[in-house]
Amino acid sequence: MATQNAALDSAAPAPSAPDYEAIVIGAGVCGVYQIYRLQELGVRATVLEAADDIGGTWLRNRYPGARFDSESVSYGYSFSKDLLAEWNWSERFAGRAETERYLHHVVDRFDLRRHMQFGCAVRAARWDEGRRQWAVELADGRVLTTRFLLTSIGMLSTPTLPRYKGVDGFRGVSFHTYHAPREPIDYAGKRVAVIGTGATGVQVISELADKAGDLTVFQRRPNWCAPLHNAPISPEEMATLKASYDEIFAACRASAGGFVHQPDIRRTLEVPEAERLAFWEKLYATPGFSKWVGNFGDVSFDARANAEYSNFIAGKIRQRVKDPAIAEKLIPTDHGFGTRRVPLETRYYEAYNRDNVHLVDLNETPIVEITPAGVTTSDREYPFDIIIYATGFDAITGAFDRIAFTGVDGLTLKDKWADVPATAYGVMTRGFPNLITLAGPQSASVASNFPRAIEDIVNWWTDLFVYLRDNGLTRIEPRQETEDAWGRHLKAVTDSLLLGTARSWFTGYNSNLGREYKNRYLIYVGGGVRYREELGREVASGYAGFDKAFPI
Ligand code: NAP
Repeated sequence: MATQNAALDSAAPAPSAPDYEAIVIGAGVCGVYQIYRLQELGVRATVLEAADDIGGTWLRNRYPGARFDSESVSYGYSFSKDLLAEWNWSERFAGRAETERYLHHVVDRFDLRRHMQFGCAVRAARWDEGRRQWAVELADGRVLTTRFLLTSIGMLSTPTLPRYKGVDGFRGVSFHTYHAPREPIDYAGKRVAVIGTGATGVQVISELADKAGDLTVFQRRPNWCAPLHNAPISPEEMATLKASYDEIFAACRASAGGFVHQPDIRRTLEVPEAERLAFWEKLYATPGFSKWVGNFGDVSFDARANAEYSNFIAGKIRQRVKDPAIAEKLIPTDHGFGTRRVPLETRYYEAYNRDNVHLVDLNETPIVEITPAGVTTSDREYPFDIIIYATGFDAITGAFDRIAFTGVDGLTLKDKWADVPATAYGVMTRGFPNLITLAGPQSASVASNFPRAIEDIVNWWTDLFVYLRDNGLTRIEPRQETEDAWGRHLKAVTDSLLLGTARSWFTGYNSNLGREYKNRYLIYVGGGVRYREELGREVASGYAGFDKAFPI
């Protein structure tokens, strides 16, 4: 028996063919593309999805106002010219329902549903070294085996509720935004509470301000928000956009985060003030993340540049909010612009000019408990009909913790990643052979326009799968030095930016998890260009950073 790594080929039972060559967990944006690539290659593969349908984040987050803030034309898959030619986006930034329809269209068009199984929640997965396969245990007790196990389980799919006393005892309607009911709710005349002012809360508040009878926002820390500038796309505009897809995707590939916007390479403070302010005014009026990623690049790493820009945005908030005291409460003081995820908004600040919208600053009057009738702060009781928790997620690693992954010699993924995840490029982790963490911690998918990054990662992994298959290899695992090098690189790029200085889910912060905060280096912020270079180097070396083995 030939081997590339004798240490891996210990005495073991004869190999038996697994049920599948590849199992993909999750039928969201990532899982759909991965199964498309695998079925194209004729691989015996299936998708296991816990829900009753495809869609992932776009199936779940049915809260009022849910939409993405990547340009629609940059969010669709790029792999099929026919698909690009036939799909029409109706808005610059599509809403949840349209995105869900799009994913259904893709799945139906490429007949992918026959490779998917729904209602299949994966509870555990155990590596069987002897058989070189994973045993995947479902909630219903079934066990399926597979050579390769691919996770597309979402970075924001484990919602977290506050640990307030009485959360379960509220008499009215209450839900976390991730679990918003499928049936529409009539908010007219209702007293509604929104707890949380991240990207989700900002969308909910903007949407409900003129629909709810009374809307009370419970804010702990404000975020730097900026206008989305959504608009319908006319058939003529769509035709023009379709003719520009090559340029659109090229622009995304050239940008760090996979967006259509390019940074300005001038240094903020070297640009004369009048010119700088004119540039920022123009950015503020431009749709999408231009205000963040189309800015002077040094705003993301030079504290003085960042402070100047933060001042500019603070001025905008003061202009838009009539009550100066409320405006000050909405201006962040604990972090600079863009050091946490920037929520894009539609008339968010104007919502606070309405008589039916109230802001409660939890720093002044913290929530004491949720009562059957509403919310009690240190100051008073607020009665509500509906409480919406926009309180975020056990981000990035939460979904991994919910599945009991056990690798070589009984090592569990939860234990291995308890402190800081250790990975090779965010797609594999030592001790867990043949486990491919598509959209995993430390990959470029986290801080990017998701489909753009995910196409790169799925393509890279699929090429690697073909390499393994063509060479008759059945086991792959990153070398320790590859993982160590990725950890060092990731830390270096994160520490070079201001982003790592703020507490947010990007850096593993969530006050509801009951653990002390420590930057967990969860996201790769080196940018898509650099990330692809790193992955490309690995390919060029014949995947030298990985131990690979032939069948036993
Ligand atoms: P998030 O950014 O983590 O925000 C959670 C909010 O809840 C924060 O304001 C947080 O306050 C507050 N909060 C948490 N626990 C609380 C408690 N016990 N008491 C009071 N307030 C509490 O979560 P998110 O808004 O759901 O957004 C997560 C990510 O989803 C976004 O960053 C984005 O990547 C994605 N998303 C995307 C879109 C889009 O594409 N347009 C829309 C929505 C979400 P603190 O800040 O003080 O912790």
